[in-house]
Amino acid sequence: MEYVFTPAVQPWVAVHGEKAGFPVRRIFCVGRNYAAHAREMGKDPEREAPFFFTKPADAVVQNGAMITYPKLTEDFHYEIELVVAIGKDGSDIEESDALNFVYGYAVGVDLTRRDLQLDARDKGRPWDWGKAFDNSAPCTAIHQVGDCGHIDSGRIWLAVNGETKQQADVADLIWSVPEIISICSKAQMLRAGDLIFTGTPAGVGPIVSGDRILGGVDGLTEINIQIG
Ligand code: MN
Repeated sequence: MEYVFTPAVQPWVAVHGEKAGFPVRRIFCVGRNYAAHAREMGKDPEREAPFFFTKPADAVVQNGAMITYPKLTEDFHYEIELVVAIGKDGSDIEESDALNFVYGYAVGVDLTRRDLQLDARDKGRPWDWGKAFDNSAPCTAIHQVGDCGHIDSGRIWLAVNGETKQQADVADLIWSVPEIISICSKAQMLRAGDLIFTGTPAGVGPIVSGDRILGGVDGLTEINIQIG
C-alpha cells in the first residue's frame, strides 16, 4: 500500500535482554484496582466491577526519558502500575488459560492530568483528556515470563525525589492479572502487542517540573523518569 505521506513509526518498548523491541498495539488501563486507592478517589472498592480506559499506543515513553510537563493541567499526577504485555491474540479467554497470553511484565506510570480527569468524571464525560495525552505512558523494558515468572505478588512502589509516595503489594490487586485478561478479552479481542496497565495503589499525588520519579515492582526493571 502506498500512503499519501509516510506513516508514523510503530510505537515500541524495549525487551529486557533482547535487541528487538516489543511493538505496542494498544494500551488498556484498569481503573481503581487497589482498594485503598479507590477509597482515596472517593469510591467504594467493594461493589464495582473492573472498568477500563485506554491510551494511544504512541503515548508510550522509553524508560529514562525526560517528560515535558503537559499542557492544560495544574494537577499532574503519577500512578505506579504493573504492566502486562500480551503476546498473542485471544478473545473470550478463560481465567484458567489467561496467563498463556502473557508475553511478559513491565513497570509503567499512568501519568494523569487529575484536574481534567476528575472534571470529566464528575460531568459524566470521557476521561481521555485526563489520561490519554502525549507521553502519558512511560514504561520500562518488558521482562519475558521465562525470565521473571508470572507476577502475582511483590512490592510495588514509587518515590518522588527520593521520598516514597506509594508502597503496596501486587497481591492487593482487587482484580488479578488472569481476571483482568479474561474480562478485557470478553469486550474485544486482545491482540499481540497490547499492554495492560493494571491499576495503581494508594498514595497518588502531584508532580512538578524538575521532579525525578523512581518506581518499581519486585523482579522487574525500575522506572526512572524526570519531569522537564
Ligand atoms: Mn491508573
